[in-house]
Amino acid sequence: MKQQDGDEAANGTSGFAELGLDDQLTNTLASLGYEEPTPIQREAIPPLIAGRDLLGQAATGTGKTAAFALPLLQVMLGDKERRRGGTAVKVLVLVPTRELAMQVAEALHKYGKSLGARVLPVYGGQSMHQQLVVLKRGVDVVVATPGRALDHIRRRTLDLSSLRTVVLDEADEMLDMGFAEDLEAILESAPAKRQTALFSATLAPRIRAIAKRHLNDPVHVKIEAEKTKQGAVPRVRQVAYMVTRQQ
Ligand code: AMP
Repeated sequence: MKQQDGDEAANGTSGFAELGLDDQLTNTLASLGYEEPTPIQREAIPPLIAGRDLLGQAATGTGKTAAFALPLLQVMLGDKERRRGGTAVKVLVLVPTRELAMQVAEALHKYGKSLGARVLPVYGGQSMHQQLVVLKRGVDVVVATPGRALDHIRRRTLDLSSLRTVVLDEADEMLDMGFAEDLEAILESAPAKRQTALFSATLAPRIRAIAKRHLNDPVHVKIEAEKTKQGAVPRVRQVAYMVTRQQ
């Protein structure tokens, strides 16, 4: 055990392993340069792995994507029935915009690379047929905007009957964009016995109402925004990607 602790400290993944994540995932995180979990990851990962519902108050930039993506992948690791085809999905992540759908799908793909996770972003404006072809081959996680998800559900090209987990990411944004009814319809068509995680920057009364109706005894995690001195501006995470001219 001591030896293992030393190894983990050496490759900087001990914090993630302590949260219950498998070596396959912690090795990927180490290769991405993630040294320690962020506060939301520390608090959200263990209950999500244990199957609890979760109400997470956290903004973008806190590491919330990995906070729900890693437990989903960890549970997927133990799923023996995984390699089936057909349009039934086990995990549905709902997001407000196509950009976020692509970003979250990309993150799941990146963290789940060693597991061969099959992730499909589904959003309006894209060909239904093309989405259907991929869905039929079998997908582990669908990351969708609510309107297009509901379109597929109504046409029976997205089957939620085996759904294990649904994640509502940036729920406040989804409501602001007028997706309240679509969300209700999707959650109503999902099995009652499922895991639900809801993330939102604010817990406005409308969000609380959704949480009350659709979450079952959730763990509540709140990550405060970074405190700034009076007159100071909050730090902004800046990222630059070097790409080739064609990209
Ligand atoms: P998010 O809040 O999910 O949009 O994540 C913000 C950024 O933080 C993303 O670029 C992630 O790749 C990065 N990130 C998430 N968790 C960690 C971590 N534990 N260590 C380092 N970077 C992280």
